[in-house]
Amino acid sequence: MSRYIATRAIRGANSIVNEFDSLLARALAERGPDLPLAFPNTAYSLPLILAITGQTVDKLGDLQPVLDTARQLLRPAPPDRRWTPYLGETLDAGMATLLAEEAIEAVRFAYDQQPEALPGFRLAGGTAFTNPEFQTNGDGHLNGPIDDIQLRTWGIQLVDGRMPGFAAIVGCAKSNEVAVKIVRELQRRNILTFLSGNVNGRSIIHQLMEAGVELGYDTYTVPFGTDTISAIYALGFAARSALTFGGMKGGQARDILLYNKNRVFAFVLALGEVDDLKYATAAGAINFGFPVIADTVIPEILPSGVTPYEHVVSMPFNLIEGADDLQRAERLVQKCIEVRGVKVKLAEVPVPVPYGSAFEGEVVRKADMRIEFGGKHSKCFEFLRMASFEAVEDGQVTVVGPSFADQPAAAAMDLGVVVEVAGRKMQKDFEPVLERQIHHFVNGASGVQHIGQRDITWIRLSQAAAGKGFDLKHFGAILHARFHADFGAIVDKVQVTIYTETAAFEAWLAQARAAYAERNVRLGNMTDESVEEFYSCTLCQSFAPNHVCIVTPERLGLCGAYNWLDCKASFQINPTGPNQPIKKSITLDPQKGYWAGTNEFLENASHQQVNEVAVYSIMENPMTACGCFECIAMVIPEANGVMIVSREDTSMTPAGMTFSTLAGVAGGGLQTPGIMGHGKFYLLSPKFISADGGFKRVVWMSSILKSQMAEQLQKVAEREGDPHLIEKICDERSATDAEGLVAFVTAKGHPALGMPPLL
Ligand code: SF4
Ligand code: ZN
Repeated sequence: MSRYIATRAIRGANSIVNEFDSLLARALAERGPDLPLAFPNTAYSLPLILAITGQTVDKLGDLQPVLDTARQLLRPAPPDRRWTPYLGETLDAGMATLLAEEAIEAVRFAYDQQPEALPGFRLAGGTAFTNPEFQTNGDGHLNGPIDDIQLRTWGIQLVDGRMPGFAAIVGCAKSNEVAVKIVRELQRRNILTFLSGNVNGRSIIHQLMEAGVELGYDTYTVPFGTDTISAIYALGFAARSALTFGGMKGGQARDILLYNKNRVFAFVLALGEVDDLKYATAAGAINFGFPVIADTVIPEILPSGVTPYEHVVSMPFNLIEGADDLQRAERLVQKCIEVRGVKVKLAEVPVPVPYGSAFEGEVVRKADMRIEFGGKHSKCFEFLRMASFEAVEDGQVTVVGPSFADQPAAAAMDLGVVVEVAGRKMQKDFEPVLERQIHHFVNGASGVQHIGQRDITWIRLSQAAAGKGFDLKHFGAILHARFHADFGAIVDKVQVTIYTETAAFEAWLAQARAAYAERNVRLGNMTDESVEEFYSCTLCQSFAPNHVCIVTPERLGLCGAYNWLDCKASFQINPTGPNQPIKKSITLDPQKGYWAGTNEFLENASHQQVNEVAVYSIMENPMTACGCFECIAMVIPEANGVMIVSREDTSMTPAGMTFSTLAGVAGGGLQTPGIMGHGKFYLLSPKFISADGGFKRVVWMSSILKSQMAEQLQKVAEREGDPHLIEKICDERSATDAEGLVAFVTAKGHPALGMPPLL
């Protein structure tokens, strides 16, 4: 351990803890100990403090013991004569720094000083918060902490590898150009990027803002604040990952730090001069196993017990070999990835625009649009089908009809995308599975926005992308590259034909529609009884080590991303992967959904944590949940039914908890009778909690679900023999407590009231 670093980190820690001390004293004097403290929209109060100390802070007075803990972790700076200060002292100082930083941000929130105001700044998507209550913060404010909803959304991408890790950038790059290059290099690899800090008042956030880079959740770049303290939000995010997906509890500090070290591929990139506070904060990050890479000259810290790689790496920017600054920036990012061992999967996609998942959420506004396909003014469809080896010429992309070159700006035209694939392991059943990927694949191109699927596809192309030469044939190039890269195990040849010529377009559209209809029937006819095997999904075990989803034709995975066919295809692609067939074997109880095969599989795959699951019940041995469920179902005994809360709903519910709080109860891979995470579409299944009375038990449902699935829910109501059932289901607009709910369902004559008691 370098004495220099220890000295500076300990000095920085002492001064930030003193700052915390005086801020706390001032706030106590001004506002009193009962001043409420919270970060918006999280169930984990002040997450880092909760994770490390086990203490829930919800008012100012609760910070006193946090201050005491921080003080205990501090040691005096090492005296000059000692040449080997312990790593432990520096790490402790780092931890004290993090506690102080989080506390300071919480007090600033109470004083309305967070998220930080930055005039002229606009977050991509206009908001930092999925919660409408906070959405006004989008303009003129930076992001501040990440809310739980976004954490869960990214959770699934972190587990399925779409997002390999995160980078916390602190400081200011050599130039705006370098700042942009660094962020683009990270985006290209789908690495989530957190931005904070400054050097002499100038932050990388200012640099990116000046360069017109869109920052926000949609582009995987989160501007926390222009001071170093705001970097605490990155570590709060890391702490919450362990609490959310690792099933850990506050206070399990060691486990939480180890979890991050082993499973979260993150690093800190310090740009520009490193001051005492940055050293202290970096020491805090090293506790999580996150190495620090600096682009200036600082002493390095070599591997020790905490991590098998260097803790601190110095890579002075001007000394990096490279033809110019851009190449140096690229190599700097490359070095960060190597040091932390981030596993990056990159498909080389031959298009003239940047390409990667980080661009998937990009929006193309009407004013920036070159052309659109589908939407209000034209038609667009995409259709993937299997063909014989002879019929497919791999890599061939044909455009039938005119391109958009002659169209005026912002025009609309018809477009049909037909993908034909051949492969020895390809099956007709996989057509819809592969077709659904087109959305992700096409969206990955910067400047292309893709919405919908089948014949309601809607694609927009930006002027910037068209200006760089993006043309119709590039849709084919993307699909060819990505199907090979991601589905090479079942797809050997891919050919794409793009239709804009009217007669051909119409003919193919008719053919595609016939195929969609046929698929609907096939899927609709598939029941749990009609198959011999279900599939497991253990993808989330990298975050929730004991959780297993059992996916059946009539019950999809709780994240909504994997149905039975997806799992079947995934097993073909990767026979030793997370989706394994589960032979049902002996049926033990067809009503509740017990099979010898599912129980046995579960016991093994959950590492003996769970030995039985009733696939169709919420009351008895319900399926466990990781953290990425789309909905939570919970029994409301007063109404003799269940409520369904959508992840997108942030209002209070009749259970007395919001989605975020409920998620803490439902997740973590534990079985909790009466509460269960599930996928949205499971609601429509005849097997939805069928052991407990089925869909008729639903007495309350987030209104967003009612509107998103209005048509399908109406069909369910008819299937259940009560065409007015949906109107009888309460939502947050009518009641957010049990009393109001009971009054509502009583007045409407909801059938659940007449059903056998749930408890
Ligand atoms: Fe995770 Fe279940 Fe979705 Fe698989 S199906 S990714 S285990 S939530
Ligand atoms: Zn999950």
